[in-house]
Amino acid sequence: MFSRILIANRGEIAVRIIRACRELGIAAVAVYSEADAGALHVRLADESYLLGPAAPAESYLNIERILDAVRESGAEAVHPGYGFLAENADFARAVEEAGAVWIGPPPEAMELMGSKVAAKRLAEKADVPTVPGYTGDDTSVEKLAEEAGRIGFPVLIKASAGGGGRGMRAVRDPGEFPDAVESAQREALSAFGDGRVFLEKLIERPRHIEVQVLGDNHGNVVHLGERECSIQRRHQKIIEESPSPALTPEEREELGEAAVRLAEAAGYRNAGTVEFMLEGHRFYFLEMNTRLQVEHPVTELVTGRDLVELQIRVAAGERLPFAQESVELTGSAIEARVYAEDPETFMPTGGRILLFRPPEGPGIRNDAGVESGDEVPVNYDPMIGKLIVYAPDRPAAVSRMQEALRSYVIEGVVTNLPLLRRVAGHPAFAAGDTSTDFLETHGLVGRPGEAPAEALLAAAVEELSGSGNPARDPFELGIWRAGGAARIRYLDGGRERTVEAERNGARLWRLRLDGEEYEVGLLARTGNELHLKANGSPVAARVEREGSEVRVSCRGREHTLARPPALNLEDMESGSGESGRTSLEAPMPGIVIKVLVEEGEEVRAQQPLLVLEAMKMEQPIVAPYAGVVTRLPFREGSMVSGGAVLAELEELTPEA
Ligand code: ADP
Ligand code: ADP
Ligand code: MG
Repeated sequence: MFSRILIANRGEIAVRIIRACRELGIAAVAVYSEADAGALHVRLADESYLLGPAAPAESYLNIERILDAVRESGAEAVHPGYGFLAENADFARAVEEAGAVWIGPPPEAMELMGSKVAAKRLAEKADVPTVPGYTGDDTSVEKLAEEAGRIGFPVLIKASAGGGGRGMRAVRDPGEFPDAVESAQREALSAFGDGRVFLEKLIERPRHIEVQVLGDNHGNVVHLGERECSIQRRHQKIIEESPSPALTPEEREELGEAAVRLAEAAGYRNAGTVEFMLEGHRFYFLEMNTRLQVEHPVTELVTGRDLVELQIRVAAGERLPFAQESVELTGSAIEARVYAEDPETFMPTGGRILLFRPPEGPGIRNDAGVESGDEVPVNYDPMIGKLIVYAPDRPAAVSRMQEALRSYVIEGVVTNLPLLRRVAGHPAFAAGDTSTDFLETHGLVGRPGEAPAEALLAAAVEELSGSGNPARDPFELGIWRAGGAARIRYLDGGRERTVEAERNGARLWRLRLDGEEYEVGLLARTGNELHLKANGSPVAARVEREGSEVRVSCRGREHTLARPPALNLEDMESGSGESGRTSLEAPMPGIVIKVLVEEGEEVRAQQPLLVLEAMKMEQPIVAPYAGVVTRLPFREGSMVSGGAVLAELEELTPEA
């Protein structure tokens, strides 16, 4: 067994792995960024190494620095946790070349499963059902459109290298397909450095069910039952449970066997997760995650096995200490992910936690990465902890979760606890009647009910008619052009709703929203009071903006929408006093996914300078006027906090 393990991660998962090391009598080596110097995982570790500045590229993704720490500490093995480098086969290889053991699957298996397309092809060979779709090499728009027609709409465009719920576009209307392909390819390229996409039939109201597998170096692969993770926001899980209330014992066995077949076909070892979708009683393979999963604790509670301990043991060469026959699921476990994020807009909040008081009691487990007084940096994933409950049966586990969430106290930062309480308290959740669109179906995101069309039309017209600043007119912004129509995206209680606009004359637009067309005219505008006529009916509305929030009052009700604010140049520009020089500030925390220009470069007005990803959407940052880029402090991959200066631009005085 190892005597020293380095944990190449932070937050709750680093803390979780440190605990497992302690129990095995192994010294735990932490690594950290400047933003995490006082973090819990550093306080708990036996020793720790500073990697570099807060930006992940310079710290938790900095392979060279992590390898230095491996060598300096004399760690014999590296546990990557999840996220960051956990699914990076090159890192796994580098660890092995540095003479340490990688606590994870063989790099070849990681590479194979890292491509969703390669994984699907392997699944087909291993006789594991996959979602009908197209995974061919010809990914021209024409070919994809033809294949989409064959599959039948609605279809889902997915990034082959995708992950974390990103790089997906659902298309219901064939007319929107070509634009959606281009936008998905662009997003995939900037987010994953690989623009390849494939197609799947969009399964309506599926359940997400995944199987935990575990293999040793002696040819044994077992599964530890399933987890249901249907409660998701923006394709990312927030509540997970085991066992799934939807499976019969026969289906459980069938799914488990399929997962093991695939793992064996991939030459898999250590812990991994095979994800499926369930449509009625049919299941389809989705992807395989070659790492420990966020939601692994629910499996630990129902199987009575410690997955992190088992990962370490098999990596050290031990045999799996049990056979498939002795794996039994007992009782019911549910996990809720606690995020420092706005429960309505899902935007990361961050700040100092003044009081952190998770619930306690029988059958309650907390895996947290913070304590009272800790700072939550905005540079990383905003999940701060997981609440896991266990009870003899599902109804008891549901009540336990409801009560535990009621007594959970976090002060100082905004969290998603209100949303978790609403989900856990919903009768459909108690009934086990869940699907991946649960939040939308039950109106659990944002305000109850979605904003009426006229509220979105008014918000769009407010933006389109501008307020004196020509840069505010998106028709002037080259980046907005998509087949002649401008697209204005709003988040309405977590759902993305896009208004497509074509100018139809002075103060006259043809707008499309949710498949409906509207002829809209602006009759009068005084400040933020707008009088419109939409398809002949008068609409009066007040539209106010506050940061990324757009508040629309019409017909006596106020609706709050979120608008990726990067395009509101007025909000971003902060003149530095000197005339002709402007700083462009990040309107909210995000990650710089693309830098398109260089310092010293001359740019034209409306030229995209960089692409920020915030709220899981691409936000191009454009030059408000022609000028020279005088400062460009961030590299691709950098996390930025709200208000950070993304670029400085000096205006070019036109030649006389
Ligand atoms: P799980 O399937 O384990 O629940 P998630 O999809 O929620 O995993 O992701 C787990 C962690 O990994 C999160 O911190 C998420 O931000 C991160 N993550 C997953 N995939 C990617 C990716 N392709 N790029 C960056 N981060 C990712
Ligand atoms: P990621 O790598 O981002 O986790 P997945 O392929 O695992 O991507 O999909 C994430 C989620 O997106 C699923 O849990 C499901 O909610 C939804 N999803 C993926 N594929 C489909 C599909 N073909 N039809 C309907 N929903 C899907
Ligand atoms: Mg997935």
